[in-house]
Parts: sequence; structure tokens; C-alpha cells
Amino acid sequence: MMNAPLNRRHFLQISALAAGSAFAPSAASAAQTLPELPYGFAALEPHIDAMTMEIHHGKHHAAYIKNLNAALDAAPGLAAKALPDLLGDLPAISEDAARNTVRNNGGGHWNHAFFWKIMTPPATSGAPSAELGSALQTAFGSVDDFKKAFAEAGTKRFGSGWAWLIVQDGKLKVVSTPNQDNPVMKGIVPDSDLGTPILGLDVWEHAYYLHYQNRRPDYITAWWNVVNWPAVSALYASAAK
Ligand code: MN
Repeated sequence: MMNAPLNRRHFLQISALAAGSAFAPSAASAAQTLPELPYGFAALEPHIDAMTMEIHHGKHHAAYIKNLNAALDAAPGLAAKALPDLLGDLPAISEDAARNTVRNNGGGHWNHAFFWKIMTPPATSGAPSAELGSALQTAFGSVDDFKKAFAEAGTKRFGSGWAWLIVQDGKLKVVSTPNQDNPVMKGIVPDSDLGTPILGLDVWEHAYYLHYQNRRPDYITAWWNVVNWPAVSALYASAAK
């Protein structure tokens, strides 16, 4: 993982994140493709096991993309729009089936592409930047208190969903969403939960069940070891401007 081309790729990915997009620049959402993981399947061991990563990325994320592409193929008007624009204005999709498919599978694609990038092998997890650390302290009292609030949001999410750290009106906030909803889905999630995600945690059982079975809190505790704090800090710097 330490050779120059990979480091450069990693840098470019962080730069893309900092620019506010979880995706390579693309004018339209047609023919979405599965993004490569920025690390190997076993790279997050022992906190997230290789088999979970392989199935999560190669089966679950791939299925969201396949279903999304089918909906985009059937509706050229949707395919002409960029995915973040579709997700940011779901109520504009008048047809119920298409709107639900984009919500669930477009959301699933966006969320997972984001999730892979805010994780990293434990050795490169790092720490929040001084700027982010200070903002966490202001919003939550301390970084540890933030982690507690975030873990609680993930633990208490009934069934499947996500915990998020968002920037909302320049301030940090912890929210949680059901299923594959996320804080960019205006008109879908409550206004109080809208913002720019800078950290997200998948608490669907498929994200942890092979290794942790029903012990979601243990998965969340271990997951902190693989948070990509340099990437999260870059997202914060960009979103807080
Ligand atoms: Mn997932």
C-alpha cells in the first residue's frame, strides 16, 4: 500500500472528497460503475473481516448499482442528471417506482462509495485535524463525547440504516437515517437531518453480521480503528467553508 502510485491515487481520492464529491466528476448518472476499494478486502482486519468486505463491496454495493442502472436505462430523463442532483431532489421524480428505486439504490450507491472512502487501514487512521477536533469539542464537548453520540445514533437505529456526522449551517451534528436514505435527500429526510455528510457508518447487518453477529455495539467500537480521519478532516474543511 505504500508505493508511490497508490499514494498518489489515495491523495487524488482525498482531493475528490475535499471537492465535495464522493464520485469522479461525471455530468450524468447513466451507467454507474462499481468504484474500486482504495484498499484490499483484508486491509481493515481485524476490525472488519475480509469476507464481509468482499461481499459488502462485490455483492451488496454492486447490486445497488445494477438496480440503479436499470432504472436509469428505463428513464433517459433521469440518466441525464448527475446522481447527487437526483438524490438532492427526489420528490421531482414523479413516477413512484422510479423514485423509490433511485432513493434505495441510488442512495445505496452513494452511501457505499462514501463509506469506502472514509475508512482506511488502522495504521493510517490518524486523528481529526486541529480544526475538526476543535469543532467536535464545540459541538459535543469533546471528541470522546462525539464518538459516544455517534455510536448511540448507530446503535439505536432500529433495523437497517446509517449514522452520520454532518455539517449543517456551518455546525457539526449527528443524525441517523433508515435504509439507504442519507442527509442529502431533501424532501425525504426531515429538514433537521439535512446537511453535508463528512462521516457515515453503515449499521445494516450485512456490514457486520459475519464477524459480530448481533453485536452491533462491538462492531461500532471496533470501527473507530479504521476511520480515515485525514479524509474526514478534508471533508470538514471543504463543507465548513
Ligand atoms: Mn452496506
